[in-house]
Amino acid sequence: MAHLSLKSVEKVYGNSFKAVHGIDLEVAEGEFMVLVGPSGCAKSTTLRMIAGLETISGGEIWIGDRLVNDLVPGKRGIAMVFQNYALYPHMKVHNNLSFGLKLKREPKEKIRNATAEVSGILEIGELLDRLPKQLSGGQAQRVALGRALIKQPEVFLFDEPLSNLDAKLRASMRVRITDLHKRLRDEGRPATVVYVTHDQVEAMTMGDRICVMKDGRIMQVADPATLYERP
Ligand code: ADP
Ligand code: ADP
Repeated sequence: MAHLSLKSVEKVYGNSFKAVHGIDLEVAEGEFMVLVGPSGCAKSTTLRMIAGLETISGGEIWIGDRLVNDLVPGKRGIAMVFQNYALYPHMKVHNNLSFGLKLKREPKEKIRNATAEVSGILEIGELLDRLPKQLSGGQAQRVALGRALIKQPEVFLFDEPLSNLDAKLRASMRVRITDLHKRLRDEGRPATVVYVTHDQVEAMTMGDRICVMKDGRIMQVADPATLYERP
C-alpha cells in the first residue's frame, strides 16, 4: 500500500518539445485522484510516466518509499486500465485474468482462487471461457478491470477507461469502479488511483480530488465540491 509522489517531473519529447513542465503531485494512499484538462495538456503522458511506459526527462516519481524512475512497469506495483481494454486477443478471459500471476510464477491454487475472487467481484464468471472478440464493450472493460485487480497493485492507473462505452454503461461502470475502490478501502487494502478522463461527470462523481492540467502544467488540485462550486 502506498502513496504516489511526483517531484518536479518533466517530459521532453524529441530534442526540444517540453510536454510536461516540472509538475509536483501528491496522491495519498487510498486516494482517488482524477486528472482532467483539454486534449494535449499531457494527462496521458503523465500517466504513462507513472506507469513506466514513457521515460521521464527530469524529476522523481515515488511509489511509497520506492523511487521508481528506473524501474520497468512490472516492478512498479502498478496496474493500468486502458480505453481500448488491451486484452490479449488470443487468450480466453480466464487466461487474460491470470496471465500476470502466471508470469510471477504464483502457485496454481493461488491463481485459481484469485481468478474466482475477481470474477465474482466483477460478475464475469460466465465469460471465463470466451475470447475477447466474443465480449461486448462493457464486458471487455470489466475483464480489463479484473486483470488489473487480480495483481493487487498498490497504484491503479486508468487512461479514459470508459470513453468507448455508451452513456448507460458508462454510468454503471462509474458506480462499479467507485464501489470497488470503497470496498478495497473497507477491506484494509486501499488502492491509490490516478484516473485520466475528459468527462466532467466522471471527475465530479469519482474523484476524491481533481487535478486540472493545462499545457503540461498543473493549474489546480482540489476536491470536486470546491472545483465545481457554483457562485
Ligand atoms: P493528453 O493526454 O492530455 O491529450 P498527451 O499526453 O497525449 O496529452 O500529449 C501531450 C503533448 O505531448 C501533446 O502536445 C502531444 O502532441 C505531445 N506528445 C504526446 N506523445 C508524443 C510523442 N510520442 N512524441 C511527441 N510528442 C508527443
Ligand atoms: P493454460 O493451460 O492456458 O495455462 P490452465 O488450464 O492451466 O491454462 O488454467 C490457468 C488458470 O486458470 C488455472 O489456475 C485454472 O484453474 C484457471 N482456469 C482454467 N480454466 C478456467 C475456467 N474455465 N474458469 C475459471 N478458471 C479457469
